[in-house]
Amino acid sequence: GPAVGVLALQGDVREHLAALTACGVQAVPVRRPIELDTVDALVLPGGESTTMSRLLETFDMLEPLRARLAKGMPAYGSCAGMILLAREVLDGRPDQQQLGGLDVVVRRNAFGRQVDSFETDLDIDGIPGDPVRAVFIRAPWVESTGPEVEVLATVPPVTASGHDAGAAAGRIVAVRQGPVLATAFHPELTGDGRVHALFCDLVREAARAA
Ligand code: GLN
Repeated sequence: GPAVGVLALQGDVREHLAALTACGVQAVPVRRPIELDTVDALVLPGGESTTMSRLLETFDMLEPLRARLAKGMPAYGSCAGMILLAREVLDGRPDQQQLGGLDVVVRRNAFGRQVDSFETDLDIDGIPGDPVRAVFIRAPWVESTGPEVEVLATVPPVTASGHDAGAAAGRIVAVRQGPVLATAFHPELTGDGRVHALFCDLVREAARAA
């Protein structure tokens, strides 16, 4: 099967490796350009996007990653990973670097203090059956999308604990642009493998088309 890397500079790498392995792909940590060369696709985990941005510079990974994404490498970004893939970030650090696989504007730490971390059930386009339990941790949301971006999920009006989602209701939290997928939440933390399975399907589809 295809080899799917997990960017392993910072963040919850181990959980993504496990979720990918469960999909039946070869899951490998990626820290250096030479390792990036060996994978067919890449997961960018949650963590802290400003730290990951700095580490990408330190490890000389920025340009190689931008080049692979520009050539159509499938990628999946969760939370901080979504921020890294975005064309533009609002409320980021001024020196924060973007990889640009996704034509979206994201707002970092968008949900604000009261709902810093929360869980909700999401209906996600492309994932039939029960809704997906989504865990948000100081998450971004997608503020606007370009014409090629498909919106896969928005926050429902009421969260899993029964609270009014307030200003978060209706916000875009899952998107796809061709072989690039991103979620503001962390499916790797719940044991529900369906988001990773969706990504692995995109990876296999891209491999067949190549
Ligand atoms: N707030 C973090 C950032 O700005 C993202 C949080 C996460 O990945 N859970 O990168």
